[in-house]
Formats: sequence, structure tokens, C-alpha cells
Amino acid sequence: MIEKKIKDLSESMVACFFEHKEEDIFASHLSEKLLWISEEQERYGKQAILSYLRQLRDDYHGKVAIKQQDYHVFSLHPLICFAVGTMTIEMNLEEDQFKKIDICISGIWQEEKNWCLTHFYSSIKDERLISRNGSLSLQQQLEVIQKAAMIDPLTQINNLQGFEEEVALLLKKYPKQKYVMIKFGIRDFRFVNRRHGYKMGDLVLKHIAKNLFATLKEREACGRVEKDIFAMLYCFEDKPSLEQRVEQLETVLLDPQIRQRLETKIHFNIGIYQIENNHAEYIKDMLDKALIAQKKGSRSISHRHHYAYYEEWMMTAQYQRSKLLEEAPKAMEENEFSLYIQPQFDLTSGALVAGEALVRWITKEGIRMPGEFIPIFEEQGFIFSFDYYMLDKICRQMRKWIDEGVEVHPVSTNQSRLHIEEENYFKDFCAVIDRYQIPHEYIIFELTESAFVENSEKMIKLTKQLHEHHYKIAIDDFGTGYASLNLLSVVPADILKIDKSMLKGYNTNIRTQIIIEKIIQLAHDIGMSVVCEGIEEQAEWEYLKKIGCNIGQGFLMGKPIEAEAYQKLWLKTTNH
Ligand code: C2E
Ligand code: MG
Ligand code: MG
Repeated sequence: MIEKKIKDLSESMVACFFEHKEEDIFASHLSEKLLWISEEQERYGKQAILSYLRQLRDDYHGKVAIKQQDYHVFSLHPLICFAVGTMTIEMNLEEDQFKKIDICISGIWQEEKNWCLTHFYSSIKDERLISRNGSLSLQQQLEVIQKAAMIDPLTQINNLQGFEEEVALLLKKYPKQKYVMIKFGIRDFRFVNRRHGYKMGDLVLKHIAKNLFATLKEREACGRVEKDIFAMLYCFEDKPSLEQRVEQLETVLLDPQIRQRLETKIHFNIGIYQIENNHAEYIKDMLDKALIAQKKGSRSISHRHHYAYYEEWMMTAQYQRSKLLEEAPKAMEENEFSLYIQPQFDLTSGALVAGEALVRWITKEGIRMPGEFIPIFEEQGFIFSFDYYMLDKICRQMRKWIDEGVEVHPVSTNQSRLHIEEENYFKDFCAVIDRYQIPHEYIIFELTESAFVENSEKMIKLTKQLHEHHYKIAIDDFGTGYASLNLLSVVPADILKIDKSMLKGYNTNIRTQIIIEKIIQLAHDIGMSVVCEGIEEQAEWEYLKKIGCNIGQGFLMGKPIEAEAYQKLWLKTTNH
């Protein structure tokens, strides 16, 4: 198969070049990422080679024919192959004049999902070039390209394979040295790319790599092991000195001018695994453990240090997370996700005004609460289909109520903040609701406050679209994140949902009391209604009523219950 690929590549490269399709034979087939010019070619200089090729093309008048082809594939590793090919092409220069050129093409293919070309090298044997510098032997080419296969083309430091290889050497060479394996990723790197462009993203990665490499001590190694993930093998003396080093990474690895250009501060999620003294473990396992710790670090957003040490329990938790994700699609098919609704009441009249849709995962072992699985769905992207699935359930239920003449109140749907980045989100959201012909006034779109802060431009656009289509918008979890009051002026939402954590402590802390009261007042002044969540005691209800909060939601009045039970308990049937 690889033979066929290199043959196709070579033939199309020749055809493309001579048909004048592209300016540059090297760039014509290969993205910049793949383009790699060998040391030999660099000595000539890319420009010299290109001008030679252009000259060649200008001399050519007739047809070009491939006279001979020969390809060989060598396996370097079960997942990596080196392929080399030679071809002789014959060019018709003038009437009966022909010119033969030998081209040598070699490349590294690696198997990810499919075999794909990761490094490429081509040289043309022509007397004009050969006489100047000679050409590389096959063995030399193999060595050069093998070395290149260990280097990340973007940052010029080790890639995963190169890193593993260097770590293996170091561990073997220094059996008594204590080591830690560290992995770190850039928090929300995709936002850097989206906001500043991929060029800037690449520049950030290059800087980090350059500085990371410069800070290595003797007997240490580093590499860029995935898109935005770096790994290091650091010597370990004691925790305080290691932690000091790790804590400095965010400042040391990004030069001030880059930090300035990024405007917002970049954070790393860092995972540390202390390698056992006998160094006997597989390097892949060490990397896995550092990654598990890194993910732990990334989940503790409020964590001051952004780093975590690997501990045994994390492996079990990781296993449970993967199991949960594996089970989720089947659970969807088997209808294990149940629609629960919690009522909301007018605090003055006590009348039901709306309900909040909340999911419950009903398994044979018991009920799983959303806190156990929604964050995992978000992390792994399953939330994209899941929220539409739940929205569909809500709409189907509402359609049934409308058809049966049940009195319908608005239902609010929790939508993950990740949707904001989805291209067709608004269209797809409406499509679900319109499929059931639910009047848009019955749907409240609920989104956590941090989403409004992180992405306010897109949120303003989405809010506008939602309003134009008569949906109501609620800011959820108000008071838990870092939203400023300015948010309320920028995003014209309709409902402010004060988080239950804010209500706790209102009766012991006068400051909390003042803050709640002022927020409610302010929201009302700008035309928003306020829902307070987590009302568990009569005194809380009375207090909120007294200070003018409109709506309340809490276990005191009603817990979330299955949609059918909600109907029986709270909704009146009007006609039929
Ligand atoms: P949320 O949107 O802030 O929902 C309110 C949470 O507070 C619910 O937790 C509700 O059961 C709980 N709650 C309400 N009243 C009281 C009370 O008086 N005392 C106490 N202690 N808790 C009360 P729940 O159902 O566990 O949901 C947790 C979070 O999961 C929700 O927070 C929401 O952000 C998310 N969620 C739930 N269902 C979905 C869903 O279908 N899609 C998405 N994306 N997120 C969901
Ligand atoms: Mg909510
Ligand atoms: Mg809430």
C-alpha cells in the first residue's frame, strides 16, 4: 500500500510541476508541515534548487514521460515506514532532443488512523547539481530521514517518538538518578488559535519549545508529544525545589513580548508523575500517568498552582470516566436519560411560573446525578449531541402537553457553554424546537455565567438571535464565577439566576445580604427578573420575598421530579 502511495505521490508531483500548476514543486504537494528539506538541500539553498527547477521547466517543450520507476518500503517500527523511490523521467526538449532526469523521493509514513506522510524528501540527480555537491547515498538518506522522524517539524524539539527514545537512553544510562515525568498542556489553546489565528498559535508553541529546551539541566529531556502538549523528564531532588521549578514554567516559557501580544494570561495544566526508582516501567505508562495527573490539574480550575501529582486513585477514576463515556451512547438508545423538571414559583403569589429541565441517568444500580456525568460529557465532546437529545425530550413532552390541553408554562433548558463555538448552533437549536412546533416563548435558554464572560462577542450575537426569535435567556449560576456586573449591561438577558451558594449565609453575613439585595435591585432596574435557586427553608422564602426577589426554586417548594409526575403535581388540564 505504501508503495502505491509513494508511486502516486511521485507521479502526481511530476505531472503537477510540468503542467505549470504550481509555482513551487516542493510546496505543490505538501503542506508546510510536511515539507522538510534535507541538510543536503539546505546547503544548496532552497532558492538555488527552485531556480534550477524553473529553468528545467522553461527548457521543456514537449511531453514528459516516466521511463522507469522503482520503490522500496522499509519498516522502521510497526507503525512507521520509510519509503524510497527512484524514477527516471524523460523530457522532450526540442524536436528530437531528449533529456533524462533521475529523481529520488523518500518519505516517512506513520500510521495514525490511516497511513499518512509525515516527512518528505526529494532530490533530483542532474549533472548540474551533482557536479556541485554530490548526492547522498541511500544509507545516508536513511539516517537523515530517521533522525528527522524523531523531530517535531514545527518546534524542532523531540516529537513523541524522539522523546521516548531519549528518555529510554537516559533512564538506562543513569539508573540511580531519581526522575519525574511531567506533561503539560496549554489551557484553552484552541482559544489562542481562534482568537489570534493559527500563525500566532504556532509561534506560541515554538517559543515554549525553545525556552523549555533552554531550561533543561543535564540528564534531562523534553519533547512536544501532542499538538499542544509537552513532556519533560526532570531530575528529582525534593518536592519544594521541583515545585518551584514547575511554578515558574508559566513565566519562564513565554517571553514578555509574546505574553503582551496574547493580551490574556496563558495557563498550563501540569501533571507530575514520580518515576519509580528501578525505572522498570514502560515509558508509555509513565506518560499516561503524567497525563492523568495533568487532567486532574485541568479540572481544578480554581487550583492556585495548576499542577497535580499522579496518585493511584486517579487511575481508578480515569477508568470510571472512560466506562461512563462508553456507556453513554447506549444509555441514550435505551432511554436511560430521564427528563426531570423542577418547578419555579412566584414568591409573592406562590403560583407556578416555570420549570427547569434537569437530566437524571437512571441505571440498574441507581440514579446518576448530572454533576457526575455532564462535566465528563463536556470534556469529551459528547455534550454536543447530548444537549440536543435532551432538548428533543423537552419539546416532545411539551408538544404532548399542548395536544392534551395541559396548561403549559415555560421550561428552561440548560445548554453547555461549549455550543457557543459550534458553527450552526442557533439553527440546530431552533430546528429541534420547531420540529415540535413549540411556541418560542415557552423555551428559556439557560447558560452558565462563565460562558457569557469567556466569549462575550459570540454571546452577544447569539443573544440577539435568540431574542429575535422570541426565546427568553437566563444567566445561570450567577455569583459562582468571575462575572462582573458589567456583563449585565453588555448581554441583554431576561432572567438572572442567583446560585444557591449565594443564598447560604445570608442570615449570618451582612455583606452577603447587602450584595443579594443590591443585585436583585439592579437586575430589576435594568428590566431583568430574578430567580433565586436553592430555597430550602421557609425563612429563606420569606426573606427573598421581602427583598423583592420575583421567583424562587428550591427543595422547599419542589424537588426536580420526572416530567409525568411534574405534570400530575403541578400542571392543570384546561380543556378536552
Ligand atoms: P443548575 O442548572 O444550576 O440546576 C440547579 C441545580 O440545583 C440542580 O441540580 C437542582 O437539583 C439543584 N437544586 C435546586 N434546588 C435546590 C435546593 O433547594 N437545594 C439544593 N441543594 N439543590 C437544589 P442538578 O439537577 O444536580 O443539576 C446540576 C447541574 O447540572 C445543573 O445546575 C446544570 O448546570 C447541569 N445540568 C442538568 N441537566 C443538564 C442537561 O440536560 N444539560 C446540561 N448541559 N446541563 C445540565
Ligand atoms: Mg440551570
Ligand atoms: Mg443554577
